[in-house]
Amino acid sequence: MRDDNCIFCKIANGDIPSKTIYEDDEFRVILDLGPATKGHALILPKDHYANLYELPDVVAGKVLKLAKKMAIQMTKKLGCDGFNIVQNNGEVAGQTVFHFHMHLIPRYSDDNQQIGWKPIESTQEELEEIKNKILGNVDIVEE
Ligand code: 5GP
Ligand code: ZN
Repeated sequence: MRDDNCIFCKIANGDIPSKTIYEDDEFRVILDLGPATKGHALILPKDHYANLYELPDVVAGKVLKLAKKMAIQMTKKLGCDGFNIVQNNGEVAGQTVFHFHMHLIPRYSDDNQQIGWKPIESTQEELEEIKNKILGNVDIVEE
């Protein structure tokens, strides 16, 4: 399933050229046009899913496996010192292209880049409250 108005559908399926570093029947991995660091890449499924919420479990499983494989290969080839895997869902979370993608960001000790958040204060009571809100009336989360 593709969306004719989606740029990542076009890139993933080869209708728009990209710097591709991996491709199979279901995924294309491309270099990000506005990289956070050298080698910043994106895993794109060839089918259109707007975000993680829409991603079928079977695809989700394959994405993480591919992220691991790419991280290992890229670390070896680029000689980076660490690696961030980032995946944004929704505008408020920083998503700008609404076709699911996973960021692969090699980190270098001298990259002077910031990826993350500033921690907020939280009491034990607040943590307990949010835990109960997430759990509702179930004790543990499982399928
Ligand atoms: P998001 O903010 O949605 O998590 O990430 C979108 C990413 O896609 C950004 O890092 C941006 O630089 C990248 N991007 C946007 N348009 C293009 C494009 O046409 N080609 C490539 N290679 N990357 C793109
Ligand atoms: Zn798409």
